[in-house]
Amino acid sequence: MVSNQRQSIQPLRLAKTRERIAGEIQLSVLTRLTGLLLDSRGGLKYSLSFDFDESGLCVVESSIEAKVRLACQRCFEPVIVDIHTNSLLAVVKETDRLDTLAEGYEPLQLDNDAIIIDDLIADELLLSMPLSALHPEDKCSSVSNLNRINADIKRLPFAGLAALMKEKN
Ligand SMILES: [Zn+2]
Repeated sequence: MVSNQRQSIQPLRLAKTRERIAGEIQLSVLTRLTGLLLDSRGGLKYSLSFDFDESGLCVVESSIEAKVRLACQRCFEPVIVDIHTNSLLAVVKETDRLDTLAEGYEPLQLDNDAIIIDDLIADELLLSMPLSALHPEDKCSSVSNLNRINADIKRLPFAGLAALMKEKN
């Protein structure tokens, strides 16, 4: 099913029946990520499980798998980064003190008991985005260019270098 509607969900209601929602989202609809990504080609898979913990807190377990295209910070060519992120969110009210939230939980604030799935997923993805994307050294064109220059310098014998300098003068 393809839908362009931003789906709104009510975690507290879903937790009562311990629902699990899974789906796919195109990166292009996650406008909060525009600007961070090199382009918004591709999509992501997510799943959200709703439950109450033993203290009665409504918790959402989120899992996201995405492939995003970022600019390599060394050569500025595209680098594809695989993101797999799992997190445990706890529904909090605006009046709740966040510092009393049990360790391991991320606070999740609702708007009139509801939340938009796209926004939740975009925020989770933002949190797990690498601060600086880099190709592996053997795949980065900037590193291989540098290595080639270094290799050329080593190959050039001193005699050849002297001759070169004479030619220049
Ligand atoms: Zn690179």
